[in-house]
Amino acid sequence: MKCPFCGHQEDKVVDSRASADGRSIRRRRECLGCGKRFTTYEHVEEQPLMVIKKDGRREPFDRHKVLAGLVKACEKRPVGMEDLERLVDELERELSRQFEREVPSREIGERVMRQLHALDPVAYVRFASVYREFKDVEQFMRELQELRALKATK
Ligand SMILES: [Zn+2]
Repeated sequence: MKCPFCGHQEDKVVDSRASADGRSIRRRRECLGCGKRFTTYEHVEEQPLMVIKKDGRREPFDRHKVLAGLVKACEKRPVGMEDLERLVDELERELSRQFEREVPSREIGERVMRQLHALDPVAYVRFASVYREFKDVEQFMRELQELRALKATK
């Protein structure tokens, strides 16, 4: 590691310890050129989960974007921000467990819809109509009727 004081390339590690959460290691180094000490940190490189969009382009998973879609779908509905945050937390955990690097955007949409379905039927239909891009009014009505039937049996 290049010394920040004199630029010398060689040093020795005089102390090395893991951070409390175990996610990084702090090393105290002593320059073999000038003898001064400096600190370096070592982290695991975190790979962001990439979303494969419909047109094949990729972009990093953005929880704010998902949350914004949910907030919009839940406008004037009795769903708390906390519930939505929890939903996105859970989604993020699930995705990073099941997909190593890339996840199709469709997969995210389907999962969000499943969760939203349980949370609030109206918000679900709103979200679904944007996400699934209902091909026609009939499809949309069918979905609504299914929901009504579901509600009636409860
Ligand atoms: Zn030095």
